[in-house]
This record gives sequence, C-alpha cells and structure tokens, in this order.
Amino acid sequence: EAKRGGRNRATSFNWSFKERFNRLHEIETGLRRALDCGELKLLFQPIIDLESGRISACEALLRWDHPILGPVPPSEFIPIAEGMGMIESITAWVLRQACLAAASWPDDVRIAVNISPASLKSAELPANIIAVLLETGLPARRLELEVTESIFLDDSGQTNAILRDLQRIGLRLALDDFGTGYSSLAYLRSYRFDTLKIDQSFMAGVSANAEDRAIVRAIGSLARELAMDTVAEGIETADQLHHAQEAGFTDVQGYLFSRPIPLDKITGLIAAGPLQLGEHQWPGRPVR
Ligand code: C2E
Ligand code: MG
Ligand code: MG
Ligand code: MG
Repeated sequence: EAKRGGRNRATSFNWSFKERFNRLHEIETGLRRALDCGELKLLFQPIIDLESGRISACEALLRWDHPILGPVPPSEFIPIAEGMGMIESITAWVLRQACLAAASWPDDVRIAVNISPASLKSAELPANIIAVLLETGLPARRLELEVTESIFLDDSGQTNAILRDLQRIGLRLALDDFGTGYSSLAYLRSYRFDTLKIDQSFMAGVSANAEDRAIVRAIGSLARELAMDTVAEGIETADQLHHAQEAGFTDVQGYLFSRPIPLDKITGLIAAGPLQLGEHQWPGRPVR
C-alpha cells in the first residue's frame, strides 16, 4: 500500500513536470502562430465614472484561446511573450485593435491599454502609436496607457525618455496595480500620471480589514490632492463600491458592473447610457 502510494506520488510528480514543460513549449510555439491565425482576441471592460454613472473608459484585455490548451490567461502568456521577444508585435496588434474599437465610440469614452515594461523599452513604441492614431483618427487624449510600477526598475533612462515622449504626444498615463511591488511615492512626483489604479488586493480586503480601508482612504486623498483620477479595480460587491465612494475614488471597475466583454457588447453597454449607481440593479445591467 505505502509503496504503491509512493510510486504514484513519484509518477504524478514526473507527469506534472512533463506537463509543465509541454505547456511552456505549446505556448512558445503557439504564440508565434497565434497572431497570424486570429487566435488572440480583445475583450473590453467598462470603467465607470462615479459622479455621472457613465462609462469614462474601457480597458482592453487580451484573451488567447489556444487550440489544444484552451484559454491561456494573459498573466501566463504575456511574460513568456516578453521572454521570446514577441511582446512588441503583440502590443502593436492590441494597440491597433483597441484604437479601431474606440474610434467608433462617443468622444468622451477613452480606451485603456496595458503596456508591458518590455514594450516601454522599445524606441519604436511612440512612432507606432502615432501611426495607429493617424490611421484610426483617434485623438491622443482618448488613449490611456496603463503601466505598472515595475517599469521603474529600469534605471537606464530609456523607459523614462519613452514615457516623456508619450506624454508629449498627448496620451494619458495610468499607474496600474498601485500599492504593490515597487511602490515609491517618488514616482508620483517624477511623472504626471493622469490616473491611479489601486491594486485589487486592497479592494478585496476592504470589507473585512480596517487596514485595507485605511490604505484605500489614504490613496484616495493622496490622488485627489495630486489631481489624479482614481480607479478602484476589482469591485465585486456593493459594500466595496460603498468604500470606493467613501474614499473619494473618481471611477470604479469590476465584475459588479461588468466582466470583460466582446466589442459588440461593450458598444451596446456604452449606448445604453448611465448606470444608476445609487440603486443595486447590477451586475452588468445598465438601468435608464
Ligand atoms: P490588469 O491590467 O490589472 O487587469 C485587471 C484584471 O482584473 C483583468 O484580468 C480583469 O479581467 C480582472 N478583473 C476585472 N474586474 C475584476 C473583479 O471584479 N474581480 C476580479 N477577481 N478580477 C477582475 P485579466 O484580463 O486576466 O488580465 C490580467 C493581467 O494581464 C492584467 O492585469 C494585465 O496586467 C495583463 N494584460 C491583460 N491584457 C493585456 C495586454 O493586452 N497587454 C499586456 N501587456 N498585458 C495585458
Ligand atoms: Mg472622471
Ligand atoms: Mg490594467
Ligand atoms: Mg490592475
């Protein structure tokens, strides 16, 4: 009995190692083909202005349906794409699709695109973005780039120069997942970020922990003093929404309002008009 259990454990260890290796291999070879074969898709999640209940922006979120593995999350394949030197072409594809979509929306709705640190080291990015804006006719102020604090680990000055170029073009910059990783308040001084997105983990804890509530309130008032928009991500409950409002956040995003959805659905949601944030009529259903 014990012996058999031991052998099973060893076997399952070997299998899981092999499976992990195979999966990485499938992802690497698959990524080279995914862009050309139309396996990548963009979904859009609304970001809602708390004052008006209107959709102020939509965040583009990448999806990959792999023919064998099924859905592979971006948190898994983006780092692999970075390592393979494929992130530039993926970023270019995402930017173009996202701007094409946004160009068909009302003028007061922005598009937010996640830009990985590796892409921000490429001197081609600003030129690429200008070309996409010209092609789609989207005004620069309607494109917001979401970057994370990990970009500040690059001390070569390259990222710095590219961020400044992007700001000169007139793009908006958002600091994503704020409060985790390499947080330093000095970053808020060196760049004029338009938007601060507090990390989901703080909102997740807000109902149960006084500490999370204190941090959320402090970030809310800091951002207000610095005249930044503030997005509370990961809002799943009415109680979390309440805390975001109390902390003075300007915008909210989360499953309570809508999951990431395809282009035709988000276009319909934008057209449906403001959400009644005072009444509990969600999820995902705008009320007129
Ligand atoms: P992120 O930019 O912080 O995006 C927010 C993530 O939270 C998304 O996960 C979204 O689906 C999820 N989310 C939204 N509302 C809720 C909620 O109420 N509850 C919970 N539990 N989750 C919620 P997703 O789509 O899996 O993306 C994960 C990360 O992958 C993103 O984090 C971003 O860093 C990266 N990513 C996604 N698309 C792209 C892309 O086109 N380019 C790059 N470079 N990175 C991307
Ligand atoms: Mg606003
Ligand atoms: Mg983001
Ligand atoms: Mg985030």
